[in-house]
Amino acid sequence: MKASILTIGDELLAGITLDSNATWIGRKLMDLGIKTVHKLTVPDDTTEIVEAFKLSQEKGDITICTGGLGPTNDDITLKSFCEYTGSELQFDEDYYGRLINEFERRGYKMSETNRNQALIPDKGQIIPNPKGSARGVQFEKDGKTLFILPGVPGEMKTMMEETILPYLESLDKDNYHVINLRTTGLIESALFEMVSDLVENSEMAIAFIPGFTGVDIRLTTMDETELFELVNVLYDRIGNYIYAENWDPLEKAVGLILSQVSLTIAVAESCTGGLLADRITNNPGSSNYFFGGAVTYSNESKMNILGVKKATLEKHGAVSSEVAEQMAKGVRKKFKSDIGVGITGIAGPTGGSKEKPVGLTFIGLDVNGEVKVKKAVFTNDRRYNKELAVQSALNLVRIALL
Ligand code: ATP
Ligand code: MG
Repeated sequence: MKASILTIGDELLAGITLDSNATWIGRKLMDLGIKTVHKLTVPDDTTEIVEAFKLSQEKGDITICTGGLGPTNDDITLKSFCEYTGSELQFDEDYYGRLINEFERRGYKMSETNRNQALIPDKGQIIPNPKGSARGVQFEKDGKTLFILPGVPGEMKTMMEETILPYLESLDKDNYHVINLRTTGLIESALFEMVSDLVENSEMAIAFIPGFTGVDIRLTTMDETELFELVNVLYDRIGNYIYAENWDPLEKAVGLILSQVSLTIAVAESCTGGLLADRITNNPGSSNYFFGGAVTYSNESKMNILGVKKATLEKHGAVSSEVAEQMAKGVRKKFKSDIGVGITGIAGPTGGSKEKPVGLTFIGLDVNGEVKVKKAVFTNDRRYNKELAVQSALNLVRIALL
């Protein structure tokens, strides 16, 4: 099955709004093995929208369109849909009643403009919108399907996940199979060298997609057996670097392992300023294993809160293997957790020296009294260094528990 994505809105063309709907939809379709072959963005203009419907439907078996379903006069997607399909707008009395009730329930008086949200075309099916008032439309003709959704990302995503994606999944067209292996800890070229013979001898489409905290390896094929065979071989070769399949972040993988082995964790952060605690708590259910964290930016706080020794700070400096170790031990003791992590580094852009360059980072890990420290030299960029240090720390925990 081939797909077209169509996004509507002047603000998308002007660069005021990032077209995140298109990337999100493309990715979700890819996960189902549906190839997006065409993507188009047009302004809020009926002629343009009608032409875009036509072109998108020529290119794709399905078209997913977002934007311009709202009640205001710049929202003309439904009007354009009527022109394109020769349908008429009808007033949905029942839905209008429900809208009034919903507004009252939330303590608002409904304005006359919102009457427009109860207009539905007499062709196509309505797609419910659990998060908002603008409903979507699904229209089938000559074996092609057009889906129209609101532009608000939260509403669009809910409607995709609750209605459209399950529907597309049930269609069982000859889609391709895809697996995305998420790796961290090796740069793209090093990773590639470890598997280059497999890649070169395979008929499969294999893409290496580098990000700055890891590399995704995406395998795409029509042959499911071949896919699983290759995935198994990849796990044998580079399994230690693979932390998840599909799009899960590292903190989710770490959370899963911590839950499985029933261990708890606490973190002490200097240069990452709380980012590690933030990442860990992004995972729902993290309260089961995360006891807490301390952002100890000054020497005093490292001493007072974590028990880092003054003599160590004076002799080795705050950014040192010894301090990272004491931070990990100290935070574990303070929070009475099984695991303690301590991060100290020079985030930059200033503050580096010849012996201790910008990007130098030490990550201490204490797992039930077994302590190790990882040293890394990251980049010159402050934000990158924080992200990289956190990714590295999470990965250190993951590997220690494997
Ligand atoms: P509303 O009922 O809010 O008017 P709508 O269906 O008419 O919804 P738009 O008016 O096009 O949608 O956009 C509503 C909001 O969603 C705006 O904040 C807009 O910036 C955002 N939005 C629209 N299209 C996209 C897109 N392709 N990617 C990301 N955000 C978008
Ligand atoms: Mg709008």
